Amino acid sequence: MCKHKRCRNKDCGVLFVPCRQVPGQEYCSRRECQQARKREWNRKKLASDPDYKEAREQAQKRWKEKNPNYWKEYRARHPEYTRKNRQQQRRRNRKRRQNPSVSKIAKTDESDLRKNELTGRYKIIPIHAGKVVKTDECIVEITAISSGYCCFCD
Ligand SMILES: [Zn+2]
Repeated sequence: MCKHKRCRNKDCGVLFVPCRQVPGQEYCSRRECQQARKREWNRKKLASDPDYKEAREQAQKRWKEKNPNYWKEYRARHPEYTRKNRQQQRRRNRKRRQNPSVSKIAKTDESDLRKNELTGRYKIIPIHAGKVVKTDECIVEITAISSGYCCFCD
């Protein structure tokens, strides 16, 4: 029996073995996907729980009142961060202008991948001691998988 699940993070979609200690695990253990899980939980909570939303907004407002110049000062203290951010944004804007259909294409490929269950193209990234050691990626074609590895359990 195959126990693999597809990671719910739409930017990931990797197959993973859910951890025994985490019933109903929907996201793989990568940091980005765990952050996506928390964001999603928060988004749902905000939409369904007006008290939670109210409390969150109040807390944010209080924090902003206490720290009115936080971002202004942060940018002043980190000119390199600000410069890089601006540069990256300009690059993204340029890319979008040059090729407005890029994000659309990526989405279509992803849903096709999901329909095909296990069969499909996968990205392999070498990992050592829970860390990505190389940025080299390898794309492979896979038709079936019988066992897996769980970062939480092993
Ligand atoms: Zn994931």
